[in-house]
Amino acid sequence: MIHRRRKSASDAEGVSSARVYSIQSISVKGDTMKTNFKFLYFLLILVLVVSWQEASAQAKKLPNIVILATGGTIAGAAATGTQSGYTSGAVTIDAMLTAVPGIKEIANVKGEQISNVGSQDMTFEIMMKVARRINELAKKSDVDGVVVTHGTDTMEETAYFLNLTVKTDKPVVLVGSMRPSTAVSADGPLNIYNAVAVAGDPNAKGRGVLVVMNDWIHAAHSLTKTSTTAIQTFMSPLRGLVGVSAYGKNDFYNNPTWKHTTSSEFDITNVTKLPRVDIIFACADMSPDLIDACVANGAKGIVIAGVGNGNMNKASVDAAARAVKKGVVVVRSSRVATGMVDRNVEINDDELGFVASDELNPQKSRILLTLALLKDRPAAEIQTMFRSY
Ligand code: ASP
Repeated sequence: MIHRRRKSASDAEGVSSARVYSIQSISVKGDTMKTNFKFLYFLLILVLVVSWQEASAQAKKLPNIVILATGGTIAGAAATGTQSGYTSGAVTIDAMLTAVPGIKEIANVKGEQISNVGSQDMTFEIMMKVARRINELAKKSDVDGVVVTHGTDTMEETAYFLNLTVKTDKPVVLVGSMRPSTAVSADGPLNIYNAVAVAGDPNAKGRGVLVVMNDWIHAAHSLTKTSTTAIQTFMSPLRGLVGVSAYGKNDFYNNPTWKHTTSSEFDITNVTKLPRVDIIFACADMSPDLIDACVANGAKGIVIAGVGNGNMNKASVDAAARAVKKGVVVVRSSRVATGMVDRNVEINDDELGFVASDELNPQKSRILLTLALLKDRPAAEIQTMFRSY
């Protein structure tokens, strides 16, 4: 009995402790589930926060690039995709950017319209506006680089002007296209993509103003337009390329050695008007009175696009010497596509007071001479500039 009672007591105890146990077990399970649920919830929030932080860090890592648009064929439009006639400077920067797939993945891009002209109508006024805007933008910590869209006809002139007047080592890249935006196989979108990739690349810093066209990266000092219609128009014949850019992957292998940007002494901050400098194209049986006409019309400088090594006929040398005597600075450059113009080769520069253009072609010689003439300087000082810029 006792045993049974005990047994039953113990049974009863067993039943009740089992019940207690199972009640406890339910409540423990419930607590564990609650804890697990809380933990999962916490984990989910953590994952969301981390991935949001990662996404915004990713977004922050993209370089901030400002595109200043000036016009040109890159902003040109034609009635059909295959006609050769078109109007340059017809499309806005915002419309141009929508035609560049993937651009948002390589940079945070903002566009500003400075002008919308074919670059045959580029003026010093617009160039100075661009230079000043770049100088403003470059001071901002949230701007990593600037791209300037431009017509190709005078791109080398604006690029070189900016090379001498912008005061930053942040990348400044000019870009254009040979085909209008409406053309079959328009080259503008990929050129813009590559230009933005170069402008956002820390390796592009400190190399002076660059031009990116058709996968090639040129220094402003060296490039020149060589074909009226081919998309591979820009060449850097004397110095070669600064690098290449293929679908936004850049490879730099040259560093321009001339003075530029931060090492340039030219400051256009308060300049409203630039001195007149003309270019005279030399040829066989050239008329010397063109040189006299430049002087009579107020030129402060004359660049001769000479034959060969900056030569001109005897009558023109005499006219140029007359100009020098009247205080005009005469620079001898060359109409030949490549090669240097050296002092005292066939013309006695020392005796006649001329300046030799060294590596600069006539159109870039004009830019340097124009800026040099912002101050009264002797020809010897200007000659030194032609060797260092
Ligand atoms: N005439 C055009 C311009 O310079 C040519 C071009 O952009 O390719 O604006």
